[in-house]
Amino acid sequence: MSDCLFCKMVSGEIDVPKVYEDDDLIAINDINPQAPFHILIFPQKHISTLNNIGEADQQVVGRVFLTAKQIAVEKEFDQSGYRVVANCLEAAGQTVFHIHFHLLGGRQMSWPPG
Ligand code: AMP
Ligand code: ZN
Repeated sequence: MSDCLFCKMVSGEIDVPKVYEDDDLIAINDINPQAPFHILIFPQKHISTLNNIGEADQQVVGRVFLTAKQIAVEKEFDQSGYRVVANCLEAAGQTVFHIHFHLLGGRQMSWPPG
């Protein structure tokens, strides 16, 4: 997708430091962090919303959670606790239309989210 922010990060058109990268996924620091650790994990494949994930995406979506755990271990907030959240469409607050999972850690969180 030529006008997608996260696709431009995948292709390298926008150069951004990667927290993690493999053939399927990228993780970056959120530009507007809402916690001491706020990392975005997203597939390299363009999928605009959670409504658009399909059977073929099962493995990559599952690997998002393994990657989140791995990053939490590396950054040593796995034992204090963390949250993984994805917003779908406007009512949930989605602003970038390439699916991504927020990994938040390093502070006490409340529930329910706003
Ligand atoms: P959402 O609102 O769930 O779609 O999340 C989009 C996230 O992308 C927000 O937390 C933004 O702060 C973050 N974001 C937007 N632009 C950038 C950027 N250039 N680099 C890193 N994070 C970004
Ligand atoms: Zn995209």
